[in-house]
Amino acid sequence: MNKPATDWHAAASALRIDGRAFIGGQRVATASGETFAKTSPIDGRMLGDIARGRNEDVDTAVASARAAFADARWAGKAPAARKKVLQRFAEKILAARDELALLETLDMGKPIQYSLAVDVGATARTIAWYAEAVDKIYDEIAPTAASALALITREPMGVIGVVVPWNYPMQIIGRSVGAALAMGNACVLKPAEEACLTALAIGRIAQQCGLPAGALNIVPGLGEEAGAALTAHAGVQHLSFTGSVATGRLVQAAAAKHTVPVTLELGGKSPQIVFADADLDAALPFLVNAGIQNAGQTCSAGSRILVERSRFDEVVERLAQRVRALKVGPALADLDLGPLISKRQHEIVSHYLGLARDAGLSIAAQGEIVDSAPAGGFYVRPTLVAAVPAAHALAQEEIFGPVQVVIAFDDEADALRIANGTPYGLVAGVWTRDGSRALRMARALRCGQVFINNYGAGGGVELPFGGVGASGHGREKGFEALYGFSALKTVAILHG
Ligand code: NAD
Repeated sequence: MNKPATDWHAAASALRIDGRAFIGGQRVATASGETFAKTSPIDGRMLGDIARGRNEDVDTAVASARAAFADARWAGKAPAARKKVLQRFAEKILAARDELALLETLDMGKPIQYSLAVDVGATARTIAWYAEAVDKIYDEIAPTAASALALITREPMGVIGVVVPWNYPMQIIGRSVGAALAMGNACVLKPAEEACLTALAIGRIAQQCGLPAGALNIVPGLGEEAGAALTAHAGVQHLSFTGSVATGRLVQAAAAKHTVPVTLELGGKSPQIVFADADLDAALPFLVNAGIQNAGQTCSAGSRILVERSRFDEVVERLAQRVRALKVGPALADLDLGPLISKRQHEIVSHYLGLARDAGLSIAAQGEIVDSAPAGGFYVRPTLVAAVPAAHALAQEEIFGPVQVVIAFDDEADALRIANGTPYGLVAGVWTRDGSRALRMARALRCGQVFINNYGAGGGVELPFGGVGASGHGREKGFEALYGFSALKTVAILHG
C-alpha cells in the first residue's frame, strides 16, 4: 500500500523543537541557560528557542571530543567498524526524511519537495559514500633503498572544528562531518544561527546509530560567539569552514594562531558560458535553474550568463520567457522559489536591484510573488538583468539571491577573460557543440569544477568540490575529502 501523502501543514503545527546543544552524547542547555529565538523565513512564525553557546560550552564540547578521540573509542575502531556505524547513520537519516525535510524547510525556507528529494537524499548518500569508501583506502610504501621499508600512512587528525552556513545545512554537514568522522576524527560542529534545526536533529540520530558519545558534538549559537570560540580554540587540530569570504578570512587568521590547517569553502560568482553553436533547447533549463535554485542562495549558483554576441538577443529573450514564468511563495506550497533566509538577505538583494536601476541596466524579466506569500516572509522576485558590463558590481560580487546577469562576449578569448575576471573561482559551465573548444575552455577556466553542456551533472559526493582564489581552498567530497581530514605519517624501517 502506498504511504498516504504527508499533511505538511498539520506536521508543522505539531512540531516541537528541541533547541538544546548536543555534547558528550547528551542534549544539554548552555552553561548560561541563554537562548535565542528562531523564527521561520516563510512567515516569521516562532519555531523555538535555540541554545546560545559561548566559550564555556565550546570548551566543554572540545573536551568531550578530545576525550572521545584520546581513548580511541572511535579512532581506534577498524575502518570496517566505522563504516557500519556510518551506514546506519545514513539509513536513519533516510528513515527520518519527513521530519528532517520539514525542519529544513521551516528553518531555511526552501520548497518542501526540494528538502525531501534533494537535501535529505544527498545527505544520506554522502555519509553512506564516505562509509563505503573508508575501508577501501590503502596506505603506501615509498620507493626507498632495498634495505629499507618506508610506510606512508594516513591517521586521523584529532578534533575537527566544523562551522557551516544556513543555505544547505544538512548537505554541508553530511559532506564535512561525514568525511571527518569516517576518517576517525571527533567533531565539534557549530551550525549557523539562521538555520540549525536539522543539525540538532542529526545529533540525535547520530546517537541512535552507535556513534560513541563525544565523537560528534553540536554547539549552536552566534558566529561571533560560539563560532569565534570554536575557531580560536587551542584544542582543535583542523578547521573546516563553509561560509562567506569575510568570515573565512577571520577563520584562517584564527587557524594561523595555532598553526592548524583549515579547509575554506567560500562564495562564488560562477559563469555559464554559451557559445553561438550551443544546443539552446538543452541549455536553457540549466541556465535558469543554476541561478534560482534555493532562491539563488547557492555558493555554486551560475549567476553570470555569458553569451556570444551573435545570439545575445535571442538567448536573453528565451531566458526572459522562463524567468517571467517563475513563481515565488510559501515553501510548503512547493513553487519554484521559497523566501530568502532573512531580512538581511532581502536587504542585500534589494540593494543590488537598486544598483541595477540606478545604473540604468535593463531588467529583462522578473518572476512573480504569489498572493498567498505571507507578509512576514522574505520574498523577492527572481530577476534577469541583461547587457551588464563585466566590471559592474552586479557582475563581480556574489549577491546570494535569485538575480542573474547576462553579459555579451565576442570570441573564446573574450569569454575566458570575462569568466576568469572576478576574484572568485568555484564552478563554471560551458555550452558548445565544439568538443575541442570545450576542452580548451575547461583547461583555461580558473575554478574548481567545470561542467560541459550541463551544470552540476553527477554533482554528488563523487566529485571533489571546492574553489580557488576568493572561493577558498581545500576540497570536500570524493576521496579528497577523506584525505583532507587525515594526517600523513611516514614510518621508515632500516631492515638491512
Ligand atoms: P557567514 O560567513 O556569515 O556564516 C557562516 C558560518 O560562520 C555561520 O555558522 C556563522 O555563525 C559562522 N560565523 C560567523 N562569524 C564568525 C566568526 N567571527 N568566527 C567563526 N564563525 C563565524 O556566511 P553565511 O552568510 O552563513 O553563508 C553564506 C556564504 O557561504 C556565501 O558567501 C556562500 O557562497 C558561502 N557558501 C559556500 C559554500 C561552498 O561550499 N563553497 C557552500 C555554502 C555557502
